Amino acid sequence: MSKVSACLTCGACCAFYRVSFYWGEATGAPAGYVPSELTEIFHPHLLCMQGTNQAQPRCVALEGEIGKHVGCRIYQNRPSPCREFVAGDEIANPYCDKARANYGLAALIPVKEVA
Ligand code: SF4
Ligand code: SF4
Repeated sequence: MSKVSACLTCGACCAFYRVSFYWGEATGAPAGYVPSELTEIFHPHLLCMQGTNQAQPRCVALEGEIGKHVGCRIYQNRPSPCREFVAGDEIANPYCDKARANYGLAALIPVKEVA
């Protein structure tokens, strides 16, 4: 989930992809910030957000109803994949489109293309 407002009525990517990242991003590591209690081991060097490594993913930090109103309860401390994932109304992002389509939501159009 990126920072733009479209995400606040979406949340699809938080319940579609596995969200994995280097263990050093989690609390317990010297510079960690992602709450480690919301993570699980995915690989010897990687953690993932709980709930995202399963057949029907949904991150434990996601609040609300997908496609209606959602929020990330660790937004300020979310891991790097979430920070780097850009909503489709900022720049074209087929991964955003794919997650949204899974929930029956239309692809977003980058603002520059609308203007
Ligand atoms: S799928 Fe796209 S619009 Fe929806 S929350 Fe993720 S980045 Fe935002
Ligand atoms: S940490 Fe937040 S932004 Fe990242 S997948 Fe979970 S709910 Fe979404």
